[in-house]
Amino acid sequence: MDDVQDIEKAQLIMTLRSMGILSSKVLTAIEKTPRELFIPKHLSHYAYENSPLPIGYDQTISQPYIVALMTEKLDLKSSDVVLEIGTGSGYQTSILSKLVRKIYTIERIKPLLVNAKICFDKLKLTNIVSKCADGHLGWKNMCPFDKIILTCSTPMIKDNLLRQIRFGGKCVAPIGKLNGNQMLKCITISQNEYKIHFEDICEVNFVPMIKDN
Ligand code: SAH
Repeated sequence: MDDVQDIEKAQLIMTLRSMGILSSKVLTAIEKTPRELFIPKHLSHYAYENSPLPIGYDQTISQPYIVALMTEKLDLKSSDVVLEIGTGSGYQTSILSKLVRKIYTIERIKPLLVNAKICFDKLKLTNIVSKCADGHLGWKNMCPFDKIILTCSTPMIKDNLLRQIRFGGKCVAPIGKLNGNQMLKCITISQNEYKIHFEDICEVNFVPMIKDN
């Protein structure tokens, strides 16, 4: 990283703070994660702009503000075990890995997952377990999870996924039309029973969750 990127990174952190991201743990995790590693080389001068960027295969790395917001809304504890659906570049995964005990992540496009794993190795992140699969099914033999994060949009979140979260856990996901805007929702499971509560966070625009046959 050069001096210009250092300055741009500091500016990005200030922007995120001014947009309402208050968790110092989240901001520090973002500060310590080199976003330039997760994007194509020819775009690295945009690494610290607060915008999504293409990562190939018609997919995008999310806007840093949305990564920060979703991470903050998950209300992570250092003991948490998290499931992420949609590894993509692995940028969000890497940020989560700094904040929780273990993260399981699923991606359906194999070359993206291969690239993401190279990044995890470079950053010496050892608490990430990944697989190439259809995330609609979740990761049944590893549940229950404390939290689930979806980084691709779905018209509705199925019960089979939510039932992989323990009581008192949460899921943050973009819910709505596959093309166009969706509502980012935080879904909380009650402490003592399987009762779910939905909170709208803001409008977002994510790539769709694709169903493999
Ligand atoms: N959080 C990522 C952004 C991922 S974009 C980042 O920081 O880079 C959403 C990702 O979800 C894409 O890589 C896409 O391939 C993946 N995806 C879409 N449908 C999926 C499915 N059914 N199962 C697993 N991953 C899926």
